[in-house]
Parts: sequence; structure tokens; C-alpha cells
Amino acid sequence: MTQTAPVVVVESRCKACSLCVEVCPSGTLAMRAEPKSALGAMASVIAPQDCIGCNECELCCPDFAITVADRKTYTFAKLTDQSRAAAEAIRADGYYAPKEKR
Ligand code: SF4
Ligand code: SF4
Repeated sequence: MTQTAPVVVVESRCKACSLCVEVCPSGTLAMRAEPKSALGAMASVIAPQDCIGCNECELCCPDFAITVADRKTYTFAKLTDQSRAAAEAIRADGYYAPKEKR
């Protein structure tokens, strides 16, 4: 089966620890405010087109809340200076997405 998304967050499992955002090298993931969550935040896929399929997020999530697509069924992006800079900006902003993407 062909997957249409590079990475999926199972929101019911996310406890908003931000670890996945911290390790994501491409700015694909960021936290967003989520009033319905007990912790008031949620990991979010804000730039799926930039995901390089490194699997770091899936490996580090303590709650098994992230699944990355299989390389056999999904063509991932390559890391660029732009996506690297986006990741740095997200980290610098306390793991939150830039305002226009929240
Ligand atoms: S690492 Fe897992 S539990 Fe933590 S914010 Fe990311 S998806 Fe949520
Ligand atoms: S697979 Fe890698 S690039 Fe894609 S969201 Fe996870 S950590 Fe980021």
C-alpha cells in the first residue's frame, strides 16, 4: 500500500514531551498549543514536504506516538539549508511552530 504522508502523529498517545521536535533535523515537526490535551500542547506535522525519513522521531518517542513511512512506499525529501534553518528556528522558539503554521 502506498503511504500518502511521510510521518503521522497519533495524537491520543502524544504527551507533549517535545523530544521528537528536538531531534527532527528538517523542521517537519513542531509543537502546537492544544487545549484539548492534558498538557496543553501536541506534536504536529507542519512541513511534511521536508521530511527526510530519518526515523529519529519514531525512535525517540517514549509513547510510540509517531510512525514514519516506509522508504519502499514513500519518497522522502533531502535535507536542505532551508529545512535545517527551519528546524533551528523551531528549537529556538521553544519547539513551537512559526506563527503562520500554528
Ligand atoms: S516524542 Fe512522542 S510523546 Fe513526545 S511530543 Fe513527540 S509525539 Fe508526543
Ligand atoms: S523522520 Fe526525521 S525528518 Fe521526518 S519528521 Fe521524523 S525526525 Fe523529522
